[in-house]
Amino acid sequence: MNDIYSHCTLCPRRCGADRYSGRGYCGMGAVPTAAKASLHKWEEPCIAYKNGAGTVFFTGCSLHCVYCQNSVISSELYGAETSAEGLADIFLRLQEQGADNIELVTPTHFVPDIAAALEMIKQRLAVPVVYNTGGYELVETLRRLDGLIDVYLPDIKYHSPELSAKYSNAPDYFGHASAAVTEMIRQTGKLRFNDDGGLLRGTVIRHLVLPGCRHDSIRIMEWIAENTSPEQVLVSIMNQYTPFDFIPDAFPELKRRVTKMEYNSVVRRASELGLDGFTQEKSAVGEQYVPDFDLSGIV
Ligand code: SF4
Repeated sequence: MNDIYSHCTLCPRRCGADRYSGRGYCGMGAVPTAAKASLHKWEEPCIAYKNGAGTVFFTGCSLHCVYCQNSVISSELYGAETSAEGLADIFLRLQEQGADNIELVTPTHFVPDIAAALEMIKQRLAVPVVYNTGGYELVETLRRLDGLIDVYLPDIKYHSPELSAKYSNAPDYFGHASAAVTEMIRQTGKLRFNDDGGLLRGTVIRHLVLPGCRHDSIRIMEWIAENTSPEQVLVSIMNQYTPFDFIPDAFPELKRRVTKMEYNSVVRRASELGLDGFTQEKSAVGEQYVPDFDLSGIV
């Protein structure tokens, strides 16, 4: 039993839910739940470099962004229950299938079970463990993972509190995300690669450019340049924002794609600042990047 689940403060919501008898803001009780575990090729070339990342998509999310492409699992809570022991088996099975790494997607609300699973098998796990998060993290929760995670893959979604309040109901997002990234870099140190270009250690910051938000994106690039080093951090500027039909009418500005000018202006500023990392072709936009959640690898 993980006591923190009885009054949960694992993420910045600190909603205090008793997850043994109910669910928190993230939608999840105390049983680790996931919607898919499989090899996944649509990641940055240093994350999926050979056979694909061994992704485990966890159900639930503490952010609930209005434009979320994985809303089936983040809000509709599709998934199957497992356990810390079950997670350990899932990670080892992915390794046996040839996964380039074990990639934990939206794992924050299950950190105690994930840490327990990784402790159980750390002598048998030969591939890096990647922690893929929306960036809304508490430093004290990340410290539970110190020594267990090799690569952090956080988003920094917003700089402006107005934007993070409007789209993710999290006016305190940037303060938490920036502190989290600082802690992640402290844990991972300098970037380290294998001979195939696979990332063994380090932090990759992702940023999805949103329609009408390029000035906010540029402020994020400037923060990264001022507060991190290219020896420790890669930046992935994403161009796959998709205006799904489910986006509420209250956000008409989100019902279009990002223009070439918007995306290129962010990439240009990142380049001027000397940031190193990845950009994405316009063809990346589209629903084909939404995984087919079918419980494979979980049940
Ligand atoms: S992880 Fe979930 S239950 Fe825990 S504080 Fe965050 S939203 Fe609440």
